[in-house]
Amino acid sequence: MFDILKRNFKGGVHPKENKKYTESKPIEEIPLPEEVIIPLQQHIGKPSKIIVNKGDKVNAGDPVSEAGGFVSVPCHASISGTVKAIQPHIHPLGGEVNSVIIESDGEDKYSEKIEFNPDYMNLPAEEMKNMIYEAGIAGMGGATFPTHVKLSPPPEKKIDTAILNGSECEPYLTSDHRLMLEKTEEIIEGFRIIMKILGVNRGIVGIENNKPDAIKKMEDVSSKFPEIGVVSLDVKYPQGAEKQLIYALTRRKVPPGKLPMEVGCLVQNVGTAKAVYDAVAFKRPLIDRVVTVAGDITHQKNLNVRIGTPLKNLTDYCGGFVNSPKKIIIGGPMMGIAQHSLNAPVIKGTSGIIILRSEQIGFGKTTPCLNCGKCVEICPMNLTPNIIASLVENGRIEDAGEYNALDCIECGCCSYICPARINLVQNIKFAKFKIMQEAKK
Ligand code: SF4
Ligand code: SF4
Repeated sequence: MFDILKRNFKGGVHPKENKKYTESKPIEEIPLPEEVIIPLQQHIGKPSKIIVNKGDKVNAGDPVSEAGGFVSVPCHASISGTVKAIQPHIHPLGGEVNSVIIESDGEDKYSEKIEFNPDYMNLPAEEMKNMIYEAGIAGMGGATFPTHVKLSPPPEKKIDTAILNGSECEPYLTSDHRLMLEKTEEIIEGFRIIMKILGVNRGIVGIENNKPDAIKKMEDVSSKFPEIGVVSLDVKYPQGAEKQLIYALTRRKVPPGKLPMEVGCLVQNVGTAKAVYDAVAFKRPLIDRVVTVAGDITHQKNLNVRIGTPLKNLTDYCGGFVNSPKKIIIGGPMMGIAQHSLNAPVIKGTSGIIILRSEQIGFGKTTPCLNCGKCVEICPMNLTPNIIASLVENGRIEDAGEYNALDCIECGCCSYICPARINLVQNIKFAKFKIMQEAKK
């Protein structure tokens, strides 16, 4: 059905994949934590609003907060037990966020609302969308944009192509790879639900060709649905970034500052599709996810983890660090966020915990720019990272905006390639923050 010959995009880099350590490790269920920390903000948008009190008894899947606005989602208890406290707690994306802390009763009881509906595919699209909202689903590839909002494009923006993102282009991460192998039917059903909600009859699954087993399994399971095609993509970072993926699969270019709906596309991650299936077929909220634990750790694994589990539970379960870690990152090493405490919890967007030694970090002594032009050559957004970073360093934030700093997708390719070891993306992120701060004023 699909005539897709080009599977690539301009720019990008080829960092060492480091996926071999976990790609063949089946997903393991981590023991139930004694306590979970459920931050009220795990998504892009307004924080959710608390609806429980200290001392309340909850079951896994019960809501503990409601959406704080249209661009927001509710959060749920991920274990059964008692609300021990409602207080600010360290958050993996930085700072402290008001959180519901639940002490386990060890019984792992689930909300009575969770039950299988064999007729789920015949539910009206609006009802499906509402179930996705009530399940608290936010993009699980790391972007954490509320899924029900993404599935509600304005009527004038006609979507004709749904894209399922199975590229998982960040080094080390294999959680989506394992999910595609072990939960294939659920992912394809979730994708069909997404397509039904959008009213589209063209679905493309994009998977990097370093996962031939996942490509085969996804092809086998989707073969009975002629409206879905699986496409093998070249291995290149950031193949999984929305605009690059859309271009690689459809040759459509999302204009600067615009969303994929401008070109009739909508992208969802494979983990999100699985969560969508759970929500619509079972009324099961998003209370767990798969996390890759890799790097300098005794046993590298893929774990299924309850949302709110402290990061330390994962690293302990994996046998602890081999050496004293220089850097701990959640997400992948290219775009992930450095952690300062293992007391931070797993949240809906946590795809991995990567432990790096000093020689693996890559940023050494910085020298002045060599004007080699490599950062310009590889920038997948056609930006001039060297010029933007230099403007930022000289306090010329407004001028950095003129050079389209806001279009930066923060992929980190420029910093990765720079022989002068300049952390260009850090400067560009700062420019974006300042420009947006100014715009809000
Ligand atoms: S400027 Fe932004 S988009 Fe371009 S390579 Fe650097 S981080 Fe990526
Ligand atoms: S890659 Fe680094 S050294 Fe080369 S032009 Fe860009 S900033 Fe300068």
